[in-house]
Amino acid sequence: MVIAGAGPTGMMLSAELMLAGVDVAIVERRAGPELEGTRARGLLARTIEVLDQRGVVDRFLTAGYTAQVHSFALTRLDISDFPTRHPYGLALEQSHFERILGGWIEELGVPIYREREVTGFTQDGAGADVAVSDGETLRAQFLIGCDGGRSLVRKAAGIDFPGWDPSVSSLIAQVQMRDEPPMGIRRDERGQHAMARLEDGKLIGVVTSEPYSGQTGEPTLQELSRMLIAAYGTDFGAHSPKLISRFTDMTRQAASYRNGRVLLAGDAAHIHYPVGGQGLNIGVQDAVNLGWKLAQVVKGTSPESLLDTYQAERHPVAARVLRDTMAATSLIRSDARIDALREAVGEMLSIDVARKQFGAIASGLGIHYDLGEGHPLLGRRMPDLDLVTNDGPVRVFTLLHEARPVLLNLGAHGSIDINGWTDRVRLVEARYDGDWELPALGTVNSPSAVLIRPDGYVAWVGERTSAGLSEVLTTWFGQRLLSKSPEDVVARTTSGCRSTRARPGRPDFRSS
Ligand SMILES: Cc1cc2nc3c(=O)[nH]c(=O)nc-3n(C[C@H](O)[C@H](O)[C@H](O)COP(=O)(O)OP(=O)(O)OC[C@H]3O[C@@H](n4cnc5c(N)ncnc54)[C@H](O)[C@@H]3O)c2cc1C
Repeated sequence: MVIAGAGPTGMMLSAELMLAGVDVAIVERRAGPELEGTRARGLLARTIEVLDQRGVVDRFLTAGYTAQVHSFALTRLDISDFPTRHPYGLALEQSHFERILGGWIEELGVPIYREREVTGFTQDGAGADVAVSDGETLRAQFLIGCDGGRSLVRKAAGIDFPGWDPSVSSLIAQVQMRDEPPMGIRRDERGQHAMARLEDGKLIGVVTSEPYSGQTGEPTLQELSRMLIAAYGTDFGAHSPKLISRFTDMTRQAASYRNGRVLLAGDAAHIHYPVGGQGLNIGVQDAVNLGWKLAQVVKGTSPESLLDTYQAERHPVAARVLRDTMAATSLIRSDARIDALREAVGEMLSIDVARKQFGAIASGLGIHYDLGEGHPLLGRRMPDLDLVTNDGPVRVFTLLHEARPVLLNLGAHGSIDINGWTDRVRLVEARYDGDWELPALGTVNSPSAVLIRPDGYVAWVGERTSAGLSEVLTTWFGQRLLSKSPEDVVARTTSGCRSTRARPGRPDFRSS
């Protein structure tokens, strides 16, 4: 498997593939892990949960600080009463996020070919020949473009990127200033502007905006000064820039997330203005949705049609983020009418039902994949319950560390039979006596069993019967294999927390 791009999405995807026992390599343009410029400022609640599901969340939590950061249309949404272990966001610069994620994938043994670019590819029914800027061609069963908003992979695959042209142009900069500027956020008819003193005490972080009128090219100190004067009446003697870069509210989404042996994830598949802080988060979650599915297809466990569920599930999530971001962008400017609308939206969001509804969406905790009619848990994230097994207490998220499906039987011990799938699905016999509470929905009926996918979403709910379980196991984890192997027998008789995962170690990547 070859991934183009070692940004947040590419690195997370590589971790998921390694955990699933699939060979993967990343080709990355940048020479080192350092990130030029300022980008994401933190993680939202579901991304924090996803990292908790893999057992690495503490590395991130200790590097930042938690805060109520979720918002809709610029209104802050407090989720501190949500039923999750992480009812908050994490303030953490993208550069630190990438550094920590990079450390984890290094431990997992992911090779990164740096200072090389994917320059093109050809594909056939079995894989893709990926052209790299150093002249090599890499053969891969799949190529995944995690190469950002200007994705070469997306363009070379001929995938349309429809959407909306920019209406706002913003500069983000780190400069020194002769005069003390006013810190904080201000809005006017040109857009949103913000100043903050950076950690070193000398540099000021600046964001300033204006209506888009074709601004292109590398931004300069003169351009920054002009925009500051327009917004504040002075440029505060801005000098010695450490960085100045431009971003806009161009909003686009790939028409298809797949063309044959080529897939897209993260910014390569969707771009939008950063208000609301969603981009990195939905990229990481794309990766967690795609990783196990790709692994199963490569191992021959599942047919290629399993990959259709990646687009079916993740395209609507990003489409909703794009819509909400455009709504927020239109409220960023300030004049009497926009201010009135923003205030009215804020009032509506102070109604508790609305706060919970929009908080569930903004945090990602309310994501609902359409897996058909049934129990409210179906297609929703599995809550991180405190279970009791014969081997002692265990959290649900701990059971997901290996990125393997889990069948959690909370009914009578031995009442569920998954013979024929135990090489792929881990059966855990456990007890749980507490409430089942979902964000925005509240308390739901306690199920007697749940089938949890490796990405932490519930694929099947048992209500004192195993009806439909075999079909769902086949849909998500492949055909029943009645081999009666010793491994099957051991897995069926064990009380719960034992892993029987086979690592096929099938190489699918070669350099030629
Ligand atoms: C000013 C700003 C503020 C933001 N704030 C937030 C925020 O608060 N919260 C949030 O969630 N998101 C935020 N974002 C968005 C976030 O930065 C992106 O969504 C995120 O970086 C996407 O990750 P990615 O891995 O998909 O793509 P990228 O981070 O763009 O990574 C792509 C990688 O691919 C490499 N690459 C590109 N082309 C090739 C090639 N041909 N071959 C090999 N390698 C290649 C690049 O060098 C790069 O390392 C912000 C963005 C901006 C600009």
